[in-house]
Amino acid sequence: MNTSSNTPAHSLPNHEPSELQPETLAISAGRPDDQISMAPVMFASTTYEMGSLEEGRKMAHSTKAGKFYGRHGNPTVQAFESAVAELEGAEAARAYASGMGAIAGVILGLCSKGDHIVAQKQLYGGTMQLLAGVCPRFGIDVTFVDGTKLGAFAEAVISGRTMMVFAETPANPLLDIVDLDDLGSIKGPITVVDSTLSTPLGSRPLDHGVNLVLHSATKAMAGHNDATLGVVAGESDLIDALWGFAVLQGACASPFDALNGLRGLRTLGPRLRQQGANAVAIGRALEAQPAVLSVRHPGLESHPQFELASRQYRMHGGVLSFELAGGLDAGAKFVRSVKLCHAATSMGGPETLVTHPASTTHAGMTPEELADSGITPGTVRMSCGLEHPDDLIADVMQALA
Ligand SMILES: *Cc1c(COP(=O)(O)O)cnc(C)c1O
Repeated sequence: MNTSSNTPAHSLPNHEPSELQPETLAISAGRPDDQISMAPVMFASTTYEMGSLEEGRKMAHSTKAGKFYGRHGNPTVQAFESAVAELEGAEAARAYASGMGAIAGVILGLCSKGDHIVAQKQLYGGTMQLLAGVCPRFGIDVTFVDGTKLGAFAEAVISGRTMMVFAETPANPLLDIVDLDDLGSIKGPITVVDSTLSTPLGSRPLDHGVNLVLHSATKAMAGHNDATLGVVAGESDLIDALWGFAVLQGACASPFDALNGLRGLRTLGPRLRQQGANAVAIGRALEAQPAVLSVRHPGLESHPQFELASRQYRMHGGVLSFELAGGLDAGAKFVRSVKLCHAATSMGGPETLVTHPASTTHAGMTPEELADSGITPGTVRMSCGLEHPDDLIADVMQALA
């Protein structure tokens, strides 16, 4: 991409992507050919002088205009979009103000009254509330299925009515895995994957035949707890189809957050590897504790889908969950007792965070919905950061005691 003119946002750099490892691509992705600064350049401007009225008229209707008006597009945001498109093996990408901005943009931008959506029941709390609460209000019906069951999505598809199949893998907060080949084999409805917990370095859902992949880049991709950002990637036609609603929805990514998103992508590989290793080390230590009923991480042999997880993901992130025998009180007490770890929501940053979903991220769900997504009162979610694993294990053990 060339930031000095209104060239298409998503043109790929000249080298052959398939010859490079994803970690290497993450260093160069989204860097405009004419950019000689190593760090991205931030365009804060919301508006640009037009060469002519005719040019302005064209830009107002172009899905690629980076220098027209901030809500339509921005060169720094487009650099981030190009980087994500390249890492996902996609033709194009569109960034949003948050992960939920992207999810709402995809669902409400592509589905209309009378349409039907098949979604998995293991979902991020906000996505669940949008699908179960907001969609019916707009006349969009949603059927929830068990995303870990092979063929479950396809079975629920109503021919001629199902517009979208929505999955999340690994799913929040229990790390359930959806078989991407199974999902990608569904033809007809638009298949969508929330790949936030994987990141583009863990898996590339589009390679499995899925139509759209989206992320809360607020998490591991930006990776420093300083950007609220979302992104969707897929074929140009589909990304263009999102454009009209996105411009009206107004959940456009801020150039500053896109800048931090780009910076985060450069170090995503080593951060993810360290966070995944920390999660496995802590998980093994927890598995040896009698107060811990079960531990979930796709890198642990005890994960019920360990074989699928090993086959499908290049690496695993730092999100880990476990169930305490003492239920609600034990979960709340653990989160209060950590000293090095922080009791805070979100994940993928340098600091290790612990949450108690039943009283925070999933607090908006009814007890039935909670039980249905496998969250018990004693479930604790941990987002392992970049601290030394020995220090983290020591903190977790003193909090358990
Ligand atoms: C955090 C999260 C979201 C929402 O992203 P925001 O950036 O907070 O809007 C969506 N999906 C998953 C899996 C998440 O973890």
